[in-house]
Amino acid sequence: MNILILGGGGREHALAWAVMQNPKCDKLIVAPGNAGIAQIAECATLDVEDGGAVAEFAGENAIDLVIVGPEAPLAAGVADRLREAGVLVFGPSQAAARLEASKSFTKEICDAAKAPTAGYGHFTDAEAAKAHVRTQGAPIVVKADGLAAGKGVIIAETVEEAEAAIDNMFGGAFGGAGAEVVIEEFMTGEEASYFVLVDGTDVLPIGTAQDHKRVGEGDTGPNTGGMGAYSPAPVLSDEVAQKALDEIVKPTMAEMARRGTPYQGVLYVGLMIENGQPRLVEYNVRFGDPECQVLMMRLGGQVLDLIHACAEGRLAEAKVTWADDHAMTVVMAADGYPGSYEKGTVISGLEALPEDSFTQMFHAGTAEKDGKIVATGGRVLNATARGATLAEAQARAYALVDSVDWPQGFCRRDIGWRAL
Ligand code: ATP
Repeated sequence: MNILILGGGGREHALAWAVMQNPKCDKLIVAPGNAGIAQIAECATLDVEDGGAVAEFAGENAIDLVIVGPEAPLAAGVADRLREAGVLVFGPSQAAARLEASKSFTKEICDAAKAPTAGYGHFTDAEAAKAHVRTQGAPIVVKADGLAAGKGVIIAETVEEAEAAIDNMFGGAFGGAGAEVVIEEFMTGEEASYFVLVDGTDVLPIGTAQDHKRVGEGDTGPNTGGMGAYSPAPVLSDEVAQKALDEIVKPTMAEMARRGTPYQGVLYVGLMIENGQPRLVEYNVRFGDPECQVLMMRLGGQVLDLIHACAEGRLAEAKVTWADDHAMTVVMAADGYPGSYEKGTVISGLEALPEDSFTQMFHAGTAEKDGKIVATGGRVLNATARGATLAEAQARAYALVDSVDWPQGFCRRDIGWRAL
């Protein structure tokens, strides 16, 4: 099979690494890719949010399957354009991608499916939203309805803070994403992510994970895109996972199909778990980054068979072969991230890393310049490892971190603390 992966972060490097291990993969192109991906696959320059351009590229390169990594091409309807052009694609339609692109839409689907989630109100004007906050009290959660790169969610400790957030959102702080606002009940509990494949009808779980959103050790400091992750997530026991499937995932997917917009692709199910009861925090319509890195480390080459079956609507006959293992990824970021940081600093030591089926350095924001690997983003490398225990995976991941010479980079030293 000839495969095209869209994206160029650590998530896509991990996907490419796993897909390449499957003998059914004849040729792999990643657009745009990065310096690490370029070492294992062909990288192409392509506007991945332009569905017409992606479909044309797929035709010219005899691509049999397109795997969409990030949410932006999905929200832009790239999967729809590919399907219209008769190209097999892994990823939801624009209509189904609203599960990530609109928080009020997801709430409405949960209502219709009676799926447990936080109570909420949906507002199109500030005064009504503020009146709602005053009746509910704090803590309370204020969310811009649309995509805001993880920044459009304010956990307000006081009514005043919530009112200020509402004014800020309706005042245009998040552009069009904040033209509508969802106010949610504050949920307590432990968060974990559940990943399932959905082919429109059938649902196949492919793993659980927990990430670390805050930049500082002990979960302190500002939010980031994610500083590390591990899989499996102990809090998502088999029993809790089954509840999440039966009470949340399956009813909402049935509701999507009933509305004529069946979901196809990977579904990231963000859960809050308290006293063994899961509630939905959010859906994302793609793999998490860095959660994908630990899932790929555990699944390996079979992921191509699973993705292929999903894209062709054959999930009912697909099976995951589980190893009783654990994986961890530690994100190496540029000093200053998630604030401003320097670009172009040189990373050494990457040539001599011990990379095998137990340890892999996935690249996120890197490029090659004059024969050297340089940092081009905030989150730059993902030291990823698996082991018989989480402690073993952690020791291997940090050994990988320590083999890299990058004075302008840093990482959290406590990834996995909750589970260890
Ligand atoms: P991200 O891109 O970081 O996933 P997002 O913009 O999609 O964020 P959400 O996932 O809805 O937004 O919320 C971000 C985070 O805020 C959640 O991971 C969770 O920690 C917290 N959060 C959101 N809603 C609630 C809630 N109702 N109660 C408690 N915490 C919440």
